[in-house]
Amino acid sequence: MPVELVTVPCLSDNYAFLIHDDDSGATALVDVPEAAPILDALKKRGWSLTEVWLTHHHPDHVQGLDAVLAQHTAQVTGASADAHRLPPLDRAVAEGDTFSFAGEPVHVIDVSGHTVGHIAYHMPGAAIAFTGDSLMAMGCGPGVRGHVRPDVAQPVETGRPRGRDHDLLGP
Ligand SMILES: [Zn+2]
Repeated sequence: MPVELVTVPCLSDNYAFLIHDDDSGATALVDVPEAAPILDALKKRGWSLTEVWLTHHHPDHVQGLDAVLAQHTAQVTGASADAHRLPPLDRAVAEGDTFSFAGEPVHVIDVSGHTVGHIAYHMPGAAIAFTGDSLMAMGCGPGVRGHVRPDVAQPVETGRPRGRDHDLLGP
């Protein structure tokens, strides 16, 4: 059963993504730039959040989490390598790990470069990869704190939602 993907514009140049499986009722949220538009999108569709997948620790990807979790009970997944600066995780994952969503595998890929400990979530069954700030239109996210590894910020699938609108920034 194909999952439904909803792009939720957040802040001035960012996005969150909702993935919903009608059969199970499961709904995953990828990153939480701010709560209000995400909560509105869930309410509008009558969806209850069951999972949150964080790509990296930057505030514009996690700062809405507490307000979202105040209204939804959801399991939070993030990188074990970034756990010391991420919100508390229910499931810590690393490069090569795979977990299941809606009966489909979700592969964890280490895409450190924009920041160390940045992960992407690849759902081959749905031909989607959530790359956070590691991959943006026309390039990859700007390196932060000198850890630039553009070699690991390459596209892994077509149809991928990009992290932010930074069209003028390249690797
Ligand atoms: Zn970032």
